[in-house]
Amino acid sequence: MAKKLSASQLQDLQGGLGLEVEILTGEGSGDRFQELAQGWTNIGRETPGAIVMPQTEKQIQKTVQWAVQSSVPFVAKSGGHSEWSSIGEQGIVINLKKFSGIEVDAVDQTARLKGSVLAKDVAVALAATGSFTALGNGNTVGAIPYFLGGGSSITNSITGYGSDQIIAARMIDAKGRLVEVNEEEEPGLLYAIRGAGQFFGLVTELTVRTTPLSALGNDRGVIWVGAFVFPLERAKEVAEVMKSLMDDASRATAGLIMTMAPPPARKPALIISARYTGNPDDAQTPYKPLYDLQPLVAKGGPVPIQNASDARETLCAKGDFKRFGIVGLKRFDIDRFLETIEVWKAMVKQCPDAINTAFNFQWDSRPPKTPEFESAMSLHDTRYWQNNLIWHTDPAAREQVDMFNDECIRIMRGPDRSEYADFQNGTRTGPLELRFRGPGKLDKLKALKLKWDPVGVFTRQLLD
Ligand SMILES: Cc1cc2nc3c(=O)[nH]c(=O)nc-3n(C[C@H](O)[C@H](O)[C@H](O)COP(=O)(O)OP(=O)(O)OC[C@H]3O[C@@H](n4cnc5c(N)ncnc54)[C@H](O)[C@@H]3O)c2cc1C
Repeated sequence: MAKKLSASQLQDLQGGLGLEVEILTGEGSGDRFQELAQGWTNIGRETPGAIVMPQTEKQIQKTVQWAVQSSVPFVAKSGGHSEWSSIGEQGIVINLKKFSGIEVDAVDQTARLKGSVLAKDVAVALAATGSFTALGNGNTVGAIPYFLGGGSSITNSITGYGSDQIIAARMIDAKGRLVEVNEEEEPGLLYAIRGAGQFFGLVTELTVRTTPLSALGNDRGVIWVGAFVFPLERAKEVAEVMKSLMDDASRATAGLIMTMAPPPARKPALIISARYTGNPDDAQTPYKPLYDLQPLVAKGGPVPIQNASDARETLCAKGDFKRFGIVGLKRFDIDRFLETIEVWKAMVKQCPDAINTAFNFQWDSRPPKTPEFESAMSLHDTRYWQNNLIWHTDPAAREQVDMFNDECIRIMRGPDRSEYADFQNGTRTGPLELRFRGPGKLDKLKALKLKWDPVGVFTRQLLD
C-alpha cells in the first residue's frame, strides 16, 4: 500500500515554497480542506495528503519539482469536473484555483488562458472583444484541460474542436522544466497536447485561436437555443422526424435528444435540446417538422454565445455520483435508440436514485471543421454521439447504474468497431486505439510519451 504523506515531507514542501503558499491538510484545515477536496463527481473521489494552492507559475513549477524529486504522486486540478483530479493520502493535489486569467489579443485573434480559468470566463471575455472560441457546454469546466483533452464544442462545424484552436503552451514537464510548446520549438509536443495534453505535463498557459462573432452567421453574436418536450410514448415518431433533421447538412442544427425525467414532475419525457447557428429568425424552418408534431412544450430564441450553456448550469453542481458515458457514432439508428429507452426505464425502476440520469443522443448536422495540421485529436469524422449523463446518489447502486449505462452504449455503438470511437475527455479506459485513431497516431503518441514522461508522472496513459 502507498505510504501516507508525512508531516516532515509537508514541512519540507512548505519550506521550499514559502509561507505565502497555502497548503491544506485534512487534519489541520477543516472545512476549507473538505470544500476544496470536493469535485463535480464523487466517483473515484479520494482524500489527498495535502492540497497545495500556488498563486504563480514559479510556485507551480517548484511544487512539481518538489513532488518529482520526493517521488510524491500528484494531480493538477483546474475546474474539478473530471474523475481524474483526485488522489489518495499518499499524494498531493496542485489546485490552480488561485492562478487563473485570460488575456485577449483582438488584433492577432488569439487568447492566452492561464491556470484554472473557467470556460464561461473565457466565453465572456472573448464576447466583450467581439469574438468566441470553440467551447463546450459546461460553464464551470476548466478551459485548459477541456482544450487539452480534445474539446468537443458547440461550434465544432465552424471552428473545429477545442484542441484545433491550440497554438502554443507553457508546460511544466515530468522533470519540472518549464517548456515553451509551439510549432517552431516543440512541434512534437504541440501535436500531442492538441488532444492528449493532459498526459504530457501541467500546462500553466495555453494560447488559443479566436474567431470573430460574425462567423456565427448573424450580426448579434447569438445562436438560437430551443427545447421541445414530448411524452416518452411518442419516441418512435419523434425519432423518425429527428433522423431526417439530423442528417440534413444543409441547415446548421445541433443538440441533444434526451431521455429523462425532469424535475419537478419527474414524468419520463423525450426532450430535444436544440440549437441553430445562422440567422436566428430562420430557426423555425429546420425545426418545423418538430413543431408539426405538436410537442407538449416548444420554446426557443436567440442567446448570446457566451450564455449558450447557462441553461445547463445545474449539471455543473458538485457532489453525488456523476459520469458521462460517451461514445462517438457514425449514425443515428432509430431501432437502437428505442431500445435504449427501455434500458433507461429499467434503470430508473431498479435504481430510483438515478432519476437525474439522462440518456442523450447528440448530433451536429454538419461535420467538425478539419484543421490543416495533424494532431492527437482523431474525431473529425464524428458528428454523432451517445453522451449519457449518469447521475445518482446511492453508493450501493454504483455498479448497477454503470451496468445500465454500459448496456445503452453497447446497443448504440453496435458490434462493428469501425462504427464508433471513444473520447479522451470522457473516458480513460478501454482500448487506446478507440481514442487515438488513424495510421501511426497511437505509435507517435506513445513515442512522445516515452520521451517526455517515461515513468508516468502525468498518468500512465499511453505507457501501459
Ligand atoms: C458538466 C460538464 C460538461 C462538459 N462539457 C464538455 C463539452 O462540452 N465538451 C468537452 O470536450 N468536454 C466536456 N466536459 C468534459 C471536460 O471538458 C473535461 O472533463 C475536462 O478535462 C474537465 O476539466 P476541469 O478542469 O474542469 O477538470 P479537472 O478535474 O480539474 O481536470 C481534468 C484533468 O486535467 C488535469 N489537469 C487539470 N489542470 C491541468 C493543467 N493545467 N494542465 C494539464 N492537466 C491538467 C487533471 O489532473 C485531470 O486529469 C464536460 C464536463 C462536465 C462535468
